[in-house]
Amino acid sequence: MDDLQKRTWAEVSLKNIRNNYKAIRSALPRGCRFLGVVKADAYGHGALPVSMMLQEAGADYLAVSCLDEAMELRQGGITMPILILGHTPPRYTQTLIENNISQTISCFAKASEYSEIASKLGKELKIHIKLDTGMSRLGFLCCKEHYEEGLKNVIEACRLPGLIHEGIYTHFAVSDEEGEENEEYTREQFKLFISFIEDLGSKGDIHFEIRHCANSGATINYPEMALDMVRPGLLLYGYGDTKGKLGLKPGMRLVTTVSTIKIYEPGTSVSYGRRYVTDKKERMGVLAIGYADGLPRISSNKCSYAVSGGFAPQRGSICMDMCMVDLSHLPQVDVGSEVEIFGEENSIYKLSEAAGTIPYEILCAVSKRVPRVYKD
Ligand SMILES: *Cc1c(COP(=O)(O)O)cnc(C)c1O
Repeated sequence: MDDLQKRTWAEVSLKNIRNNYKAIRSALPRGCRFLGVVKADAYGHGALPVSMMLQEAGADYLAVSCLDEAMELRQGGITMPILILGHTPPRYTQTLIENNISQTISCFAKASEYSEIASKLGKELKIHIKLDTGMSRLGFLCCKEHYEEGLKNVIEACRLPGLIHEGIYTHFAVSDEEGEENEEYTREQFKLFISFIEDLGSKGDIHFEIRHCANSGATINYPEMALDMVRPGLLLYGYGDTKGKLGLKPGMRLVTTVSTIKIYEPGTSVSYGRRYVTDKKERMGVLAIGYADGLPRISSNKCSYAVSGGFAPQRGSICMDMCMVDLSHLPQVDVGSEVEIFGEENSIYKLSEAAGTIPYEILCAVSKRVPRVYKD
């Protein structure tokens, strides 16, 4: 562990993530299941350790985006149900079945391919039907003029042999964004989802054990949409509760160290492109983190990082493996001092906004070469 902490590392607090899980869970209606989204290596936090923690804590389901991510969990000893949210080529149907992995079905053609293979094997594949109620991404089309055809397709897909239709879900486009228009759009998506499910029941006698639609945004903003299961990702990792209802804490703290400190005369240009020039005598630290570690280069000259006693503004272009910070007003910061790029002291939103992006992208971008250090 100590060796890992010499340059740059990502401290992951499984305790914070567990507390986040408990806080989200305790706000759910009775009987509502909890699916933890652990795709993209649990948003950079480490899919296996996070999943192990969730399994032990009593979560009901996990979701990943592809078969490789699901297999990593199965091979690591995760036994709880796993749903693949994205596409799996039908030739892997047997792998899905043998590993008890549930597959999203987003159109009839794929349903029939999975069905054919499962039937030949004499086995059954668990599926969750995905409806496109307004995200315009994966899913059976079901809005307006597509409604009737959508119903017919889903009913036929669910009647295919070799498939167990355990769940049905949809995904919101703006459940995490404020404003009347966004609220209206989200409510429309929800209404369509519910009426479609009712019609599947009344017209096709097709019923589902698990109806789910709430991502983080809906889990926090529309508790009435929890249905049989919620499906948060971001909240679990400590972000997205903008009103602070649940007291969530960040799961990750990205930390680097000061490798060198130099004093520059006024008028000295710093880093590639000479995009920063000192205007006084400046005490400049070189940090052991760059864009190859996941620090967005576009945030060059726009952010500051937490050090003991304050914040150090980042100066000049961020390089591949290093970047510079002004420590003139922070004499207590020395070579070897720790610098928090984001974490509890320094909100990730500062960095994501400086980079013109969202915390999701910052978390997923923390690269492979940054060791994850688990605190508990
Ligand atoms: C990624 C994803 C989620 C989780 O989204 P958050 O905004 O992180 O809560 C839920 N459902 C689907 C289908 C997803 O792709």
